[in-house]
Amino acid sequence: MSVKVEQIDACRWRLPREGAMRTDGLVFASRQMMAFLQQEQALEQVRNVATLPGIVGPSIGMPDIHWGYGFPIGGVAAFDADEGVVSPGGVGYDINCGVRLLRTDLEVSEVRPHLKQLADALYRNVPSGVGSHRKDLKLSVEQERKVLVRGARWAVEQGFGRPEDLEHIEEQGTIAGADPELVSDRALERGRNQLGTLGSGNHFLEVDLVEEIGDEQAAAALGLFSGQVVVTIHTGSRGFGYQVCDDYLRTMLHAARKYGIELPDRQLCCAPLSSPEGKQYLAAMACAANFAFTNRQLITAWVRESFEQVLGKGPAELRMSLIYDVCHNIAKWETHQFEGKKRRLCVHRKGATRAFPPGHPDTPAAYRHVGQPVLIPGDMGRYSYVLVGTQGAFEETFGSTCHGAGRVLSRHAAKKQARGHNVEAELAAQGIHIRAASRATVAEEIPEAYKDVMEVVGVVQQAGIGKIVARLKPLAVIKG
Ligand code: 5GP
Ligand code: MN
Ligand code: MN
Repeated sequence: MSVKVEQIDACRWRLPREGAMRTDGLVFASRQMMAFLQQEQALEQVRNVATLPGIVGPSIGMPDIHWGYGFPIGGVAAFDADEGVVSPGGVGYDINCGVRLLRTDLEVSEVRPHLKQLADALYRNVPSGVGSHRKDLKLSVEQERKVLVRGARWAVEQGFGRPEDLEHIEEQGTIAGADPELVSDRALERGRNQLGTLGSGNHFLEVDLVEEIGDEQAAAALGLFSGQVVVTIHTGSRGFGYQVCDDYLRTMLHAARKYGIELPDRQLCCAPLSSPEGKQYLAAMACAANFAFTNRQLITAWVRESFEQVLGKGPAELRMSLIYDVCHNIAKWETHQFEGKKRRLCVHRKGATRAFPPGHPDTPAAYRHVGQPVLIPGDMGRYSYVLVGTQGAFEETFGSTCHGAGRVLSRHAAKKQARGHNVEAELAAQGIHIRAASRATVAEEIPEAYKDVMEVVGVVQQAGIGKIVARLKPLAVIKG
């Protein structure tokens, strides 16, 4: 399938408005990436999103774009409060999947001798894989409802982590407007024993080395230095968010019909932001987003404990503060300047990261002079990146950028390619220790399954929708 694209410059492509599209598509990619994308369904999905009512500005695709449910993964779309819609497919099944980065005061040389032990401790202390949970964490339904409303703040109140962590989480770890009455019993049931678990597959917990600094001033502001050990956590709202999404897709199919919204693809089902169905979805989505923030907060506490146990050092020596926690599957009310006017918009970011510029009031005070930290994982064998948001992103992409490298091989194709390889041993030979609940996961997640994230962030930086601060190299990876 070939979609009409017009090259704007070295990293921008326009999908011109035609047919039922209400606006253009705008995709960030190199020429080489575009050649690959032309064989993909994702571009068609960018065009489909452009047909939705009340879309403001272009339907945007990031350089890590690939096929997703209805909306592409790596997509951004903003909608007008009165005319626009909200769509569960524009958020994704894993509501508030996101990334969190912890710093340490440790140099890699201090950690290397203990790396295997550290990987074991993290694997033991942080439940991963299907059906896993901590036996010492039993939630009552009452407590779960508190989690849904209070988010990471609940975890801190229970002694998981520190109050100052909250300042370094998008929305301080609590999305307002959550209403537990609007989530199903099935979602509550699924969530109850999955809180504080990594999940499987693409989700991970990684000990990384700061391999290269791209911006000294920003790195200093974030507390990063070359040769430092840091920790990345990537997980979301687990079965809870999945169930919320699934439940509301049904509601939205009905709503789209009720409000006469024409859909080029049923998976784009949505409701007007001003309708009861639209508001209910956002209130349920907020519950799942808060669940995810809490999830990452609990895991953070166990990561700190694991480091303390293995390295025999206290918190004051380790200085494991939270650099940032950012969502990459969410729809949020935000104020943006559009065509000279201040507008209240519902920004859908699905496989896309908020990237607010220096000076923005929603950027934590400590980072206000450099911009909001943006965390971009790559893969378990090569590298990941830390960026900061830019004015360019604020003006062109509603303050958004990419969220990862993006898959190039299906899980099936990756497994096939891994056949005959001992992936764990090959990575261990490069000094990367993998702990995974299943061999199959490792095969599905081989580095070759993903694009080279260096190329992805290269496009982002060239386009001015993000600025590179540091490159991280994996040392130990816990996979679900
Ligand atoms: P997603 O949220 O789309 O599942 O994943 C986000 C990104 O994480 C992927 O596009 C991929 O680049 C990256 N990723 C997946 N697994 C790993 C891993 O084990 N380590 C690192 N550093 N990145 C990963
Ligand atoms: Mn996820
Ligand atoms: Mn994710």
